[in-house]
Amino acid sequence: ILITFCLFVFGHSNYAQTKLDVVVEKKIDSLMELMTLEEKVGQMNQYNGFWNVTGPIPEEGDASNKFEHLKNGWVGSMLNVTGVEEVRKVQKIVVEESRLGIPLIIGYDVIHGYRTQSPIPLAESASWDMYAIKASAAMAADEASAAGINWTFAPMVDISRDARWGRVMEGAGEDPYLGSQIAKARITGFQGEDLSAPNTIAATAKHFAGYGFSEAGRDYNTVDVGTSTLYNTIFPPFMAAIEADVKTFMNSFNVLNGIPATGNSFLQREVLKGEWDYQGFVVSDWGSMAEMVAHGYSKDGKAAAESAANAGSDMDMESYLYVKHLKILVDEGKVSVDKIDDAVRRILRVKYELGLFDNPYKYCNEEREKEVIGSVKNKAIALDMAEKSIVLLKNENQLLPLKKKGMNIAVIGPLAADKNSPLGGWRLAAEDNSAVSVMEGLKKYKGNKLHHEKGVELVKGKEAFVFEIDINTTDRTGIAEAVEVAKNKDVVVMVLGEHGFQSGEGRSRASLDLPGLQQELLEAVYAVNKNIVLVLMNGRPLTINWADENIPAIVEAWQLGSTSGDAIAKVLYGDYNPSGKLPMTFPRNVGQVPLYYNYLSTGRPTYPGDDLVFWTHYTDEVNTPLYEFGYGLSYTEFTYDNLKLNTNSLNKTGELKVSFDLSNTGKYEGKEVVQLYIQDLFASITRPVKELKDFRMISLKPGETKNVSFVITPMTLEFYSANNIWESETGDFKVFIGGSSNTQLASDFTLKD
Ligand code: BGC
Repeated sequence: ILITFCLFVFGHSNYAQTKLDVVVEKKIDSLMELMTLEEKVGQMNQYNGFWNVTGPIPEEGDASNKFEHLKNGWVGSMLNVTGVEEVRKVQKIVVEESRLGIPLIIGYDVIHGYRTQSPIPLAESASWDMYAIKASAAMAADEASAAGINWTFAPMVDISRDARWGRVMEGAGEDPYLGSQIAKARITGFQGEDLSAPNTIAATAKHFAGYGFSEAGRDYNTVDVGTSTLYNTIFPPFMAAIEADVKTFMNSFNVLNGIPATGNSFLQREVLKGEWDYQGFVVSDWGSMAEMVAHGYSKDGKAAAESAANAGSDMDMESYLYVKHLKILVDEGKVSVDKIDDAVRRILRVKYELGLFDNPYKYCNEEREKEVIGSVKNKAIALDMAEKSIVLLKNENQLLPLKKKGMNIAVIGPLAADKNSPLGGWRLAAEDNSAVSVMEGLKKYKGNKLHHEKGVELVKGKEAFVFEIDINTTDRTGIAEAVEVAKNKDVVVMVLGEHGFQSGEGRSRASLDLPGLQQELLEAVYAVNKNIVLVLMNGRPLTINWADENIPAIVEAWQLGSTSGDAIAKVLYGDYNPSGKLPMTFPRNVGQVPLYYNYLSTGRPTYPGDDLVFWTHYTDEVNTPLYEFGYGLSYTEFTYDNLKLNTNSLNKTGELKVSFDLSNTGKYEGKEVVQLYIQDLFASITRPVKELKDFRMISLKPGETKNVSFVITPMTLEFYSANNIWESETGDFKVFIGGSSNTQLASDFTLKD
């Protein structure tokens, strides 16, 4: 145990939380001395503000209205109360009318912007640009804080390998290393250097843990994963979040290995608050405490509150269970006062750090609200992020960039003039239809003639925040008109993909094909004009085999937020040379899912042997993806050459320098994300065939070559081993360098004692 402890503390000392502020702790002590048990429980209770603020508390609550609860000191936090006026209203009740006047912490899902929308998180992740991602989160914090909010339920750091899961749009994709870097960038962006400043907000690492591994990609479904996947794949971004000093965690709806995350002591007490020494607080996911009854884990609401409190869920989001049962549970000796005190201390600590005790109205500044929200400066930050998020998937015969003059361009597809879908899911504070559409973006380039036709409708359902979208559009009448328009044009820009609400929470899909009649439209247009640039707008990887085989140019534009059409037009016209790389594998066939680059090798070949050995394959599909993790093209070309290792033998205190030449052999200036992967050939547990360990963005002019180097240390090679500790094991390794996980260069080295 001692060795494990030392290795953890010294080997991974970064994961321990920063030291507590003695002054703040003393203030908390004296405040807690004044608090009744009821008031302490109140701090652990969070209410929603959207509806029912003045109405009766549903079912489990025992008082008749939420305003009364605020006055009684029974509420520590509200979510979905936005705008300075509204926030001031609820804060005032608590501060002026409750006995101790403890300010509320105001939470909101600021996922990819507040009013000004940046690209959806999966898109931002495709930039591999940590500065831009941090700036985007800081911009979101700037706007949200100006609207009275001081806590965001972001970033979602769930790793997922299943594109059917609707919430992949909200994460950083499939890789724990990339996901960890992005988690840090987002958290430092939201929280800034100084959390007590008026334009920074507390962040949340969510959903702890395993939510991205929902079986069959169906939202809220069971998760069953082994130790290695949990520690080596799911945990790293959460550990990185703690390294970045994230103030709160959110637990998760799912059952993990038989126990709901919300009532899971192993996750919250043993790992998070034990092994990782985390000092922030854990909020439950929306109603997830009450869901433990439906999970068949708690016999009723009271039992659920007991499990959640004992397991380390510090705040109850919208289950109404703590406010109703927790005091009784303490009186009955089922939950200790120590546990309550620990939870309350954590919550008060974040309130102190935010500066809410110094000034509960510090986020309530009407002038800032007017000035900051939707500002020109913030749009520019969103546009920069949007350009960087675009991934060029295919560009045959250099069809792109488009010529700026003298062309007749057909712009076809249900998303071409759409101003809503590009905003993506989770954009609660955006105005509907406020994105720049592709048509609007293209129109700003005056030299060409545009001819627009929708072709087909994407969805039949209403354009609202609906959970069910009827995608079975059967109206084909527009296809013929679109075909007519496409004929004899110099080029056809087709904008296809998913409705903005076809991904996100509760929006899993069983098919990854272009929804509705879009494939039919694409093929019909192709029959009359093969010069097609396909612009994809979607919240997840799609299966686009046919397009990849037939369409000469394909641009992955995701859902790019408020400035979407401007970013796309700049890329199509070559005013921005795309540099994005996929953060998630694109399968050929939904049946291959989960498909990811860092898989474990099987004991079988991936091709049939002479002796007819059974090999690892499908009889009706290859194993390889359509586009691999890390893949993305540029208008220019990059070549990798001259890989050198300064030594082939690394010892436990040493470091190894890997260098290579990157050349721009094309015609344009461009940026390339160079990627370093390793493979641990033999270890105490089977290790992935490749693991991303470092990356960097390199800019090169045409004809230019740069020597690029990375450093590998034993720390780079650590993993959670069969000894149940983080360690590197001696032995043979491979190192790979390239512009995607399908790498160009490779070499070998050995780690020695
Ligand atoms: C989601 C969370 C979100 C919360 C509050 C839940 O349904 O799973 O990610 O933060 O709602 O809106």
